[in-house]
Amino acid sequence: MKHYDKPLPEPTATSAPFWEAAHRGRLELQYCSACDSFQYYPRAICANCWNEDIQWKQCSGRGTVHSYSICNIPTLPSFKGEVPYVVAAVELAEGVRMTTNIIGCAPDDVHIGMPVEAVFERVTQEHTLIKFRPHTD
Ligand SMILES: [Zn+2]
Repeated sequence: MKHYDKPLPEPTATSAPFWEAAHRGRLELQYCSACDSFQYYPRAICANCWNEDIQWKQCSGRGTVHSYSICNIPTLPSFKGEVPYVVAAVELAEGVRMTTNIIGCAPDDVHIGMPVEAVFERVTQEHTLIKFRPHTD
C-alpha cells in the first residue's frame, strides 16, 4: 500500500466503533432509543437527552449535500496534489450532518441538495475514511 502522508484519525474509546465499522465498509452512527435520535460525532452520552445508554446502528450511507466548499489552496503540503477538492457537510438520511469530501465528480458539479452515498476509502492497513460520491437511482 502506498505511503499515506495526510493526517489520520486517532480513535478514542468513544469513537473507535465508528472507525472500526468504517474499516469494515459500514457507516455506523450512535443511536439513542430514549429520544429516538442519531448523533454524529461520537460522544459518551446522548447530546440531546443525556442518556448514557446509546447504541451503534448501521446506517444507509445515503444523504444530500447540505453545504460545501471547493478548496483550491491545499490545507497542508500533503494535499497539494488533491486541489481542487470538495469539503462538504453531508446531511445523512438519519438526520445528522457529517463533514467529509465529495469525490467521483468534478468539483463544479457538486451542488446543495445533491444526493450522495458513502464511499469507504482504505488509506492505510488500519485506516478507512468515509467520503461521499454522487448517487443516482
Ligand atoms: Zn437521547
